[in-house]
Amino acid sequence: MKRELEELLFSRYPKILEGCQQEGLGIADGWFTLVDTLCRDLQHLTDNGRGAQVKAYQVKAKFAQLRFYAGGGDSFQKGMIYMASQLASRTCEECGAPGEPCERDYAWFILCPVHAQSRSSK
Ligand SMILES: [Zn+2]
Repeated sequence: MKRELEELLFSRYPKILEGCQQEGLGIADGWFTLVDTLCRDLQHLTDNGRGAQVKAYQVKAKFAQLRFYAGGGDSFQKGMIYMASQLASRTCEECGAPGEPCERDYAWFILCPVHAQSRSSK
């Protein structure tokens, strides 16, 4: 992920993401809006007394899936994290357009048709 996008997430959601500062966020730019929306709504619930403080300790892509490892959430918040992960599995990691799993050099990515094409021509 671009440094400035990562910094934006860290500055917007310090309570959720402070445990990830050291390692950084291991995701590509196309998932920025998903993670931004997830963290925004998680923090909104907490700030309005309707949810526990979620604290992520690792956020990364693994086997073309968004892994948002966190503690502190209730079942509703865990459902939000689950849903964001499900949406990520259909969202291009490069640009955020609808995508699907693609294998490149023995690794899996979620890519839209445009980025699936550009990665295969390397
Ligand atoms: Zn794309």
